[in-house]
Amino acid sequence: MTKNKLFLTNTLSRNKEEFKPQTPGKILMYVCGVTPYDNAHIGHGRCYVTFDVLYRLLQFLGNDVAYARNFTDIDDKLLNRAEKELGDRLRYQEIAEKYIKSFTQDMHDLNCLTPTFQPRATQTIDAMIDLIQRLIEKGHAYVVDGDVYYAVRSFPEYGKLSKRQLEDLQAGARVEINDKKRDPLDFALWKTEPEGTFWKSPWGYGRPGWHIECSAMASTLLAPHIDLHGGGMDLIFPHHENEIAQSEGVYGPNFANYWLHNAFVRINQEKMSKSLGNFFTIRDIFKEFDPMVVRFYYLNHNYNIPLDFSHDGLQAAEKSYKRLVRVFEDVNADAITNEQLQQSSIIEKMLSFLCDDLNTAGVFGVLFENLDQLKAKPEEAAMVKRFLNIVLGLTLLPLKEKIVEITPGIQALIDQRETARVAKDWAMADKIRDQLRAMGVELQDKKL
Ligand SMILES: [Zn+2]
Repeated sequence: MTKNKLFLTNTLSRNKEEFKPQTPGKILMYVCGVTPYDNAHIGHGRCYVTFDVLYRLLQFLGNDVAYARNFTDIDDKLLNRAEKELGDRLRYQEIAEKYIKSFTQDMHDLNCLTPTFQPRATQTIDAMIDLIQRLIEKGHAYVVDGDVYYAVRSFPEYGKLSKRQLEDLQAGARVEINDKKRDPLDFALWKTEPEGTFWKSPWGYGRPGWHIECSAMASTLLAPHIDLHGGGMDLIFPHHENEIAQSEGVYGPNFANYWLHNAFVRINQEKMSKSLGNFFTIRDIFKEFDPMVVRFYYLNHNYNIPLDFSHDGLQAAEKSYKRLVRVFEDVNADAITNEQLQQSSIIEKMLSFLCDDLNTAGVFGVLFENLDQLKAKPEEAAMVKRFLNIVLGLTLLPLKEKIVEITPGIQALIDQRETARVAKDWAMADKIRDQLRAMGVELQDKKL
């Protein structure tokens, strides 16, 4: 499957570019993971499903992929949560443990493959200290009272990913109470903490800043220069800009040749985020929708455009997904090899969409256009099923029937509808059916 060239929109150039790894056939890919202080939300789900499809596609195209996705398991958010939940900020590791477990379950339910490496920041502290040391030696960082800061103006290319000018950043910089920094744009690499707490460093006890963690984990587990770095769009600035400044400050250009960012999930036209308080966890949604429906819903929207998350959208996705399940239900695709897949013209079309900047919506366009004719072609249907399984990560297994508790309110609606049906008041009957459907109750009518 090497004949397909893959094109991706590189955030560095803002252009669609052919993806060429440093070593043909070997790909080093790093995606920023979660800070495990709460259950993951649907924005996280979108990000990791996107990169899971990329991971699957790269392997399908014949590459050996080393994929690292980290856990930021030391952070103010974890410490605050430990204080709140356990009454002791130093018990942050218990918080991390709990939410790493929940995240792992969510990823499993969404059928995301396990990355090659899932490093935890707290296991890479030595590499962080080493990197900070080298930044100091190279004149990119300075120490003030046990804190270490990155001197943004020492890195002339600062702003190249986010396309921001230092002058504009300067004008917008908040005046902080912290007057230790030489320049308000500088950011912390190491934060001092009281004697005996956290980690010992050449600058005293302390803990790392968020940005240095990813630079250290990427270079330690993959290489100082990687092929692709990904994450949500909100990480472009400052996180990824700072990662570039740190890694390239030590190792020279280019830290990552390609940067890929997925767009936001929005609710009522607003960016969904924890800080805005308008968010759903992945688990909230799983209560009503099968994880495969959620995955299919994400993939019906291309990764690079905002997804306006809605209940109606999920219901429509469920309907389409059920149709796919029905079509492929009796198709056995287990024995199909990747080589065989090349013989399908439908797959060829789907693959060309996928290789065009992960146009997953286009893939499903081809699929639904050809769905009826696939019913008459069992061999090709088997190949298509296999492709959907391994590259899109859709299991196509029958959905579990939802068990809805029939409350007195629901029963009253069912009774009212029955009365309307007997009276042949179809408009009223339909209205009540829709109302019930919105409550997760699907009625199956018997003849009157
Ligand atoms: Zn990161």
